Amino acid sequence: MRLVDLHCHLDLYPDFEELVKECEREAIYTLAVTTTPKAWARNKALADRTKHVRVGLGLHPQLAATHASEIALWERLLHEATYVGEVGLDASPQYAKSLPEQKRVFERVLKACSKQGGKVLSIHAVRTASTVLDMIEEHLDLASNVPVLHWFSGSLSEARRASALGCMFSINARMMDSPKAAGLVKAIPREQMLTETDGPFTQTKEAPSRPRDVVTCVRMLALALGIEQDEVAATVYENFRRIIGKTTQRVDKG
Ligand code: MN
Repeated sequence: MRLVDLHCHLDLYPDFEELVKECEREAIYTLAVTTTPKAWARNKALADRTKHVRVGLGLHPQLAATHASEIALWERLLHEATYVGEVGLDASPQYAKSLPEQKRVFERVLKACSKQGGKVLSIHAVRTASTVLDMIEEHLDLASNVPVLHWFSGSLSEARRASALGCMFSINARMMDSPKAAGLVKAIPREQMLTETDGPFTQTKEAPSRPRDVVTCVRMLALALGIEQDEVAATVYENFRRIIGKTTQRVDKG
C-alpha cells in the first residue's frame, strides 16, 4: 500500500533528519511543509537526497503579524519550488487581528504562483474558507497550479464550491473524528482526495503523528466510504501522481 502525507511539518520534530530518512526508508510520499522561507534551504538539502520527501516553500498565516516582510525572500525562492506551503489565512481569535497582513501576503503568493505556474499549494484556511476561495478564484491561475486545501474546516457548501473550482483536499485523521466528516467526505469527489497528518499538530497513540501514521486516515476514510483501505490508498496515490503531472505545466511568463 503506497502512502501519501501531503502536509507534515518534518522540521518541527526533534529528530527531523531521522524522520526524513524514515519517510524514505518506508517509502512514504511526504510533503514537508514549512512555516517560513528561512527554513527552505535546510529542508531542501535534506529532501533532495530522497525520492519520497518533497518540500513546500511556506509562509504561515499565523506568522504574518511578525514575519510578513519575509514575503520578499519567499518570492525570490519561488523559482526553486514546485510545492508551496504552508500558506493561507487564519481568522481564529488569536490571529484575526493580522488578517489584513495575511491577505496581502497570500495575494502575493497566489499572484507569484500564477506568474510561474506548475505549483502545488498546501493551503491553510481557518475560519476563512470563503475568503480563501474568493482569493484563489481571483488571483490563482488554476490551469497551471493546483490548490490543495489542507485540513478543510469550512461548510459543505464551501466544500462543494472548492471542489467545483478544482481544489484538492488533504484529509487527516483528526478531521475524520468530527461529526461533520461523513458529510464532507461524501461531498468531495474521490479524484480530489489526498491524505495528510499535519504532524506534529496531530497525535497518533498519544505521540505527535509521523507521516507513516497517515495509514490511520486511510483506514478512517475506507470506513467512511465503505471501501477497502487498499482502494483508498490507490486512489490517493493516483491523485498525487496526477497533480504532480500538472506541475510540469509551467507557464513562465517571465
Ligand atoms: Mn500545518
